[in-house]
Order: sequence, then C-alpha cells, then structure tokens
Amino acid sequence: MNDTFITALKNNDLPALKAIPKSDLHNHGIFGGNILDVGKLVNKELFCLKHKIKTLDEMAGWTMNQILPDLYSRQGFISLLEAAMKQAKADGITILEMSIDSCLIDLFVGNEMDAFVSDIKEIKNRVAPDLNLRPELGIKWEKNIEILYGRIDTYLATDFFKTIDLYGPEKAQPIELFDTIYKKAHGKGLKLKAHIGEFGTPGDMLEVIDKLQVTAIQHGIAAANSSVVMQLLADKQIQLNLCPTSNIMLSRVPAMAKHPIRTLYDNGVKVTINSDDMLIFGSSVSEEYLKLYNSGVMTAQELNDIRLIGLDN
Ligand SMILES: [Zn+2]
Repeated sequence: MNDTFITALKNNDLPALKAIPKSDLHNHGIFGGNILDVGKLVNKELFCLKHKIKTLDEMAGWTMNQILPDLYSRQGFISLLEAAMKQAKADGITILEMSIDSCLIDLFVGNEMDAFVSDIKEIKNRVAPDLNLRPELGIKWEKNIEILYGRIDTYLATDFFKTIDLYGPEKAQPIELFDTIYKKAHGKGLKLKAHIGEFGTPGDMLEVIDKLQVTAIQHGIAAANSSVVMQLLADKQIQLNLCPTSNIMLSRVPAMAKHPIRTLYDNGVKVTINSDDMLIFGSSVSEEYLKLYNSGVMTAQELNDIRLIGLDN
C-alpha cells in the first residue's frame, strides 16, 4: 500500500490516491460534503469559494449565501452530515473525526437527542459501514458559556462523542472558561483538541496547551514561527491537523510551496493532512496530498509517512 501511494502521487493518479486508506482528523461535518451532492440537496448549482478571503466572517458569509437558508433545519443538518460521510468514503477516508457543532446539537437537546444519535449511526452504517467514525463535539470559541455549562453533561451523557474541539475566532473568550468543560470531556475519555495558531500566535498555542491539556491542535501553523513551540509540540507529541488549501484560501499562507508543513515536519512536529471544509474549499484529503507533492514542498515518501501518522490515530 505504501508503494502504491507513492507511485500514485508520482503519477498524479487521483483515483488511485482515493482508493488508498487515509484519515481526516480535521473536518467540520456540515461542510464536509461534496458540492455536487449538497447542490442536489438544495436543488441548485453551488460553487466552492473561488477567491481568497481574509476572515472567518467572510467564510460564514459564503455558507449563509450558498446553503444555510435552505438547510437550516434538523433534517437539513443531518443531510449535510450524510454528505460528509459519503464524501469520506469516496475519498478513501477510513478514520473520520467529524465535528458536529454544539449549536446544531442544541436543536436536538431534550427528548430528541437519542433520535439524533441513532440517525447518525444509521446513516454511517448505510453510507460508509467500514468507516471508523469519531463524532467530534465542536464548540465555537464564541459560544454562550452559560448554555455550554448547562448542556455539557447532556452532550457527554450520549457516549457518542469521541473528541472535543474549539473552533472559530480563537480566544474569543478567556481560555479558562473552558477548563471545566475540557476536564469533563477528558473524564469521559474524549480526545482533546482546539483550533489555535491559525490566526493567532505561538504564544496563544502555549496557553491553550497549558490550560486545556490538548493532545492535538487544528491548524497550529503559527508554531512554525517559534522553535520553542515546535520543540514543545515535538516533545509532548502534540499533533497538528493541518489543512493546507484552507490556509491558502483564508490568506494564512501565500502558496502551497510556502506552506509551513515543511518547517514543522523538519522540526519533528507530528503533522497530519486534512480537508477542513471540503464543501467550501473544494479540496479533498487526496487532493491535499497531491497538491503538496506537486508544489514540491514534501516528497512522496514524506507524504506517505504523514498518511501513516494519520492512520495511527
Ligand atoms: Zn477547522
């Protein structure tokens, strides 16, 4: 399989790459589907983001315009999660850490929580039976903290979530506010993750590592600017789940050839390659590998090593 992957990269053979097992550990579920499939859900032609943007607000604007008016409903969100699982299968993803926003889960809190969980399990068994699906409790950095405190036990009582993540505007609220949430999640055996160092600084990353005890970071590209942080990540084996196209489209990185994955990898940081938002950026995990190879930033052998790191999660 290793040789097959390396050969597929060298031959620019996307169908062959898709057939080889890979992980996607940074995937925002409702934005994980293929644009054609989601277009069928809303009965219109949709377009991935065409131009680079600079802020998460602009990205939210895209989703507001393209899909949310039609799919802002319980069934709409479930259909989007189904599209994400279907896309994962089509791309050869065997381990999917699929973030499900707690605001979405809030639509089901109460007597419909069990039905929501069984719906997702039914879809997985039907659409991607072999997929190792790890539902991720996605919490926006901006989420109303009192609502979160009031509902965290309900979320965790489902025994459905395998990981927890903070996403959105980094440090929109003090990190300490999430301390008890992360301790509870840890107590239930969830893997602790957070978006940090995408827009923020290496210092922000140190704070989150220290205060929330995360074992994986979504993005974390700012670490490449600090040998101290890279050393810490390497020593503690804290993994960065990178999404190169997302970084380019959000103007965090100027071009694939300049992606900090090179520096991070060379400094012994554990990295993986992921999709972030397939629906918005139009780039699957297989395509991310291919783009990194074609840009010359990583060799085929190195990319295969990274693929294996992802599967070792
Ligand atoms: Zn993300």
